[in-house]
Amino acid sequence: MERRSFLKKASVGLAAGAIAAPAIAQTAPTVKWRLASSFPKSLDTIYGAAELVSKRVAAATNGKFQIQVFAGGEIVPGFQVLDAVKDGTVEIGHSASYYFVGKDPTFAIDCAIPFGLNSRQQTAWMMHGGGLELMREFFKEYNIYNMPCGNTGAQMGGWFRKEINTVADLKGLKMRIAGLAGNVLAKLGVIAQQIPGGDIYPALEKGTIDAAEWVGPYDDEKLGFNKVAKYYYYPAWWEGGPQLSMYVNHKQWDSLPKDYQAILEAACWEAHVDMQAKYDVKNPPALKRLIGGGTQLRPFSNAIMAACYKAANEFYEETAAKNAKFKKIYEPWKKFRDEEIQWFSIAEGRFDDFMQAAARAAQRAPAKKK
Ligand code: CA
Repeated sequence: MERRSFLKKASVGLAAGAIAAPAIAQTAPTVKWRLASSFPKSLDTIYGAAELVSKRVAAATNGKFQIQVFAGGEIVPGFQVLDAVKDGTVEIGHSASYYFVGKDPTFAIDCAIPFGLNSRQQTAWMMHGGGLELMREFFKEYNIYNMPCGNTGAQMGGWFRKEINTVADLKGLKMRIAGLAGNVLAKLGVIAQQIPGGDIYPALEKGTIDAAEWVGPYDDEKLGFNKVAKYYYYPAWWEGGPQLSMYVNHKQWDSLPKDYQAILEAACWEAHVDMQAKYDVKNPPALKRLIGGGTQLRPFSNAIMAACYKAANEFYEETAAKNAKFKKIYEPWKKFRDEEIQWFSIAEGRFDDFMQAAARAAQRAPAKKK
């Protein structure tokens, strides 16, 4: 090898490094943030999104921008993450915006509302459908810069100790359920309760509640709901594609160097895609294990779905009539949803229908041969 050309190349490399290094050192301040997650560490999929963001941001800034992640309850209770970021108790937080419907039902549109968007449609609405602009304007009043950071995909409808066959069976049912679904189900006589993840199992075991929804097979299996309730209903019509969000205190965001802002934003988008992919890989084997252990799968009947759909639409009309912020986002959101459903019903819908029917037929085929 031509030693001379090797040296020449090496020296060019060294020189470039020598020039670049001090420039980075001058413009890259050390930034240390604390991130409050609403979720327990045991939820490796949802909690894990914040850890992925932290890892990526550190790697991309040579360790200069450090985000330390705390689980729900460690420094901030899970349901108080929004206030903690708003008030600057922490610089950044990771949560599900529908936890804050008590402040304003408008928050739920950032995450999921009953009979809303699926995961892909939610991302489309946020990225290119005008959703992010509308939600950022809303969050700015809470001194928060919000970014999508994860989606679970359509969730399961939850665990029921008894079968729910008719709309009348919902009357008087005590159910753990999050977000606006509680308001909708209340119209049909359900007594909705907000219970943190860790407290659901004992409540269901003792019979303090009759039913509970959490996420889907992978997460539900870990909490052991299958041991205290036999019937596993689907789908969670209230969570067709719930989005998790990263909240940054607006003052902290504004004071961040532009390159750190870009790195943080890119890391949140990566975590956003990563979470959905993780769920789509982990849910199928978990569901198989649950069914193998005796869990009985049940779809909600069309009559139940239709009654809930009607109740949801009534609730939206009532809310839009008295809440201008909700109306401002809900109306263009609804137009977007209806157009997406029309489009998805054509190519995606037909493709999914055919593939699912073919898979079911293939499953039945070996039995036929016997
Ligand atoms: Ca849920």
